Amino acid sequence: MTQSDIDIAIQLIGMHKWYGEFHVLKDINLTVERGEKIVVCGPSGSGKSTMIRCINRLEEHQQGQIIVDGIELTNDVKKIDEIRREVGMVFQHFNLFPHLTVLENCTLAPIWVRKTPKAEAEEIAMKFLERVKIPEQALKYPGQLSGGQQQRVAIARSLCMNPRIMLFDEPTSALDPEMISEVLDTMISLAEEGMTMICVTHEMGFAKTVADRVIFMDEGEIIEQAPPTEFFENPQSERTQLFLSQIL
Ligand code: ADP
Ligand code: MG
Repeated sequence: MTQSDIDIAIQLIGMHKWYGEFHVLKDINLTVERGEKIVVCGPSGSGKSTMIRCINRLEEHQQGQIIVDGIELTNDVKKIDEIRREVGMVFQHFNLFPHLTVLENCTLAPIWVRKTPKAEAEEIAMKFLERVKIPEQALKYPGQLSGGQQQRVAIARSLCMNPRIMLFDEPTSALDPEMISEVLDTMISLAEEGMTMICVTHEMGFAKTVADRVIFMDEGEIIEQAPPTEFFENPQSERTQLFLSQIL
C-alpha cells in the first residue's frame, strides 16, 4: 500500500446498482480522503440512501468497485464484517432497540460482537454518552427520551464500536425543529475531532460550516460536487440550481 492509499478512506469507482430492472445508481465515482467531511444532497428518490447503504454493504452493488479503508467490498463475508467494524451508520429513524436501556443499546455490539468485557463496555458507553451530553439518561429506555436524545444515543452507540468512518442518513429529518440543533452540534463536534464523515442531509447551514465538499445527486447520478462556498454561490448545473432554489 502506498501512502496515498492509506489517506483514502472510501473510493467508489464506476459503481452501478440496480433494483431489479431499475437502474438506481449510475456510474458513481467518489473518493473520500481520511478526515474529509462530505455532505450529500438531492431530491427524494435520487439514490442518496442507496449509495451510502452500499458503502457498508447494507445494499449490494452490481458493477464497479467500492473500496473502504483499503478493503474492496465483495461477497466475502469476512470482508463485510471487517468493513462494518470500521464504518458506523446513523439512520433517520434512530433504530434503537426499544426493549433495551440506553446503556444496553450502547454495550450490546461491543459485548457480543467485539467480546469486550461488560464492565469495560459500560465504561466506554458512559464516556460516549457524556460526549453526546446525555449520561443521565443511561438507564432509561429509548421510548422515555425525546427524538433528539434518541438520535444522540444512536450516535453514541455507533461510536462505541470505535469506527473510523461515520455515515449519516438524514439524521435530523425525523426530528422536531427544536431538536435538530442538538444533533447537529454533536455531529459538528465529531467533525472537529477529525472523523471521516458522509452525511446525507438537507441542513444547508451544517453543510456550509462542516462540509469540505457538497455532492448533489439526481436520478442516480452525481451531478455536481464542489466545496460549499462554490456549491452554494455558483452551482453549475441547472438541476442543482433548481434544487437549491426549492430548499433554500
Ligand atoms: P433517496 O435516499 O435519495 O431518497 P433512495 O436511495 O432511498 O433515494 O431511493 C432511490 C430509488 O430507489 C427510489 O426510486 C426508490 O423508490 C428506489 N428504491 C429504494 N429502495 C428500494 C428497494 N429496496 N427496492 C426497489 N427500489 C428501491
Ligand atoms: Mg434517503
